[in-house]
Amino acid sequence: MAQEDIFKKLVAHCKEYGYVFQSSEIYDGLGAVYDYGQNGVELKNNIKKYWWDSMVKLHENVVGLDSAIFMHPTIWKASGHVDAFNDPLVDNKDSKKRYRADVLIEDQIAKFETKIEKEVTKGAKRFGEAFDKAEFLKTNPRVLANQEKIDVLHKRFSDALNANDLEEIRQIIIDYKIVCPISGTCNWTDVRQFNLMFSTEMGSTAEGANTVYLRPETAQGIFVNYLNVQKTGRMKLPFGIAQIGKAFRNEIVARQFIFRMREFEQMEMQFFVKPGTELDWFDKWKETRMSWHKALGFGDDNYRFHVHEKLAHYANAAVDVEYRFPFGFKEVEGIHSRTDFDLKQHQEYSGKKIQYFDPELGESYVPYVVETSIGVDRMFLQVMAASYCEEELEGANGKKDTRVVLRLPAPLAPTKLAVMPLVKKDGLPDKAREIIDSMKFDFNCQYDEKDSIGKRYRRQDAVGTPFCVTVDHQTLEDNTVTIRHRDTMEQERIEISKLKHMIADEISFTKLYSKLK
Ligand code: ATP
Repeated sequence: MAQEDIFKKLVAHCKEYGYVFQSSEIYDGLGAVYDYGQNGVELKNNIKKYWWDSMVKLHENVVGLDSAIFMHPTIWKASGHVDAFNDPLVDNKDSKKRYRADVLIEDQIAKFETKIEKEVTKGAKRFGEAFDKAEFLKTNPRVLANQEKIDVLHKRFSDALNANDLEEIRQIIIDYKIVCPISGTCNWTDVRQFNLMFSTEMGSTAEGANTVYLRPETAQGIFVNYLNVQKTGRMKLPFGIAQIGKAFRNEIVARQFIFRMREFEQMEMQFFVKPGTELDWFDKWKETRMSWHKALGFGDDNYRFHVHEKLAHYANAAVDVEYRFPFGFKEVEGIHSRTDFDLKQHQEYSGKKIQYFDPELGESYVPYVVETSIGVDRMFLQVMAASYCEEELEGANGKKDTRVVLRLPAPLAPTKLAVMPLVKKDGLPDKAREIIDSMKFDFNCQYDEKDSIGKRYRRQDAVGTPFCVTVDHQTLEDNTVTIRHRDTMEQERIEISKLKHMIADEISFTKLYSKLK
């Protein structure tokens, strides 16, 4: 099936099974704003737990914070967001659709990359076991030609970005004949910069009111609390502050479901280090964060690092963790070496000394910072895209059957166990509820008695519940139940007394944590 179709199905699935709804749907929705339903909120909370524990619980020198969304407006002046938090936008004059100029060019690069991938697939087919991918990439003329196109475009694009040369960016779009997907034409306006921050008024009267911003990143809340945390926690360098919270960006184009939203959530950690050691820490956090992604078991080949063409004004190194979504490799997380830019700016704008006294050196300095920044919603989309699966099965009498199954990593699944009485009588529902009562303090359980057992299994597969337990007449005699495993569909008979232990082991976050580097 085409990847685009899979993505459409995934979006429909998210709605049908209570994961994600369009915000304000009964009023025809609000662009790029979404609500999480009864299952979505559980998955989201589990993703946040996975991140929070891996940062705060597993690192002695990382602590948490929950700062307010509204902050003093000067913070955004100091951070550079008022003047420079821009995206280059361009309109197609025929379709009247608006695009991010940089994204149009990145998509063009991705097209060349796809051509290379196709060559590799063909080569692998042709040469079978003898296929040497590294050699093929170095020698195949069509691969080399496409790689050359990528390199040339990359260079031109990053030069234009670094020089903030908007005319050149437009010229690239024209030269590469990048067309609007709606109108199919190359009839573009000039490229303009657009500030992504939302603002509102704080205070009761128009005259006395102050313009405040909805934060476009959670990081600044950490920087302005650096001294508070360092002093009250008696923190020694290196140490980190982690925070999960909402962020808001008035995105120009927001068409990829929860990939790009105007209201979203970030999980960010700022790690404060001694100047000169930041690039070592940058490498270390790159490795740590990649291992966090890979531990979920979605396939190591589906991840890659992407080094930034243009460094943000505050960074001396930056890399993205990209995941292979159904619409291609895209950023899920950014890892940035932010130097001492932010703390120095806040020192200057606030007039307060923001430094660290290094007892070993006997001197004070402004720490350097390495940041890891991941969107909860993009991570959610990654988990859903990796887990969604349509399977062909051998049905009864050799007939073909299909099932949709969400192969969610068990610790992340919204419901861990569905308990089903075989029939709605003979005391089976009471027994099922008894089992739920004995487990509900440990994990999320669901009681399900409607429809045939087969239909109930399918429903739980589609929601991603890793275990189903069926209570039948034998249960009343010998206290055993049938447990069915979502991924293998295998069933086994097990004593009720052993159930909790077995499930707890499979859904445990500890197992995931033990895989982390
Ligand atoms: P992009 O280039 O896709 O706009 P970015 O480089 O501006 O992203 P960062 O500022 O590095 O993103 O933000 C860190 C993380 O926050 C991103 O990796 C992403 O997971 C998440 N994020 C950023 N913008 C959005 C958004 N509009 N919707 C959802 N998640 C977002």
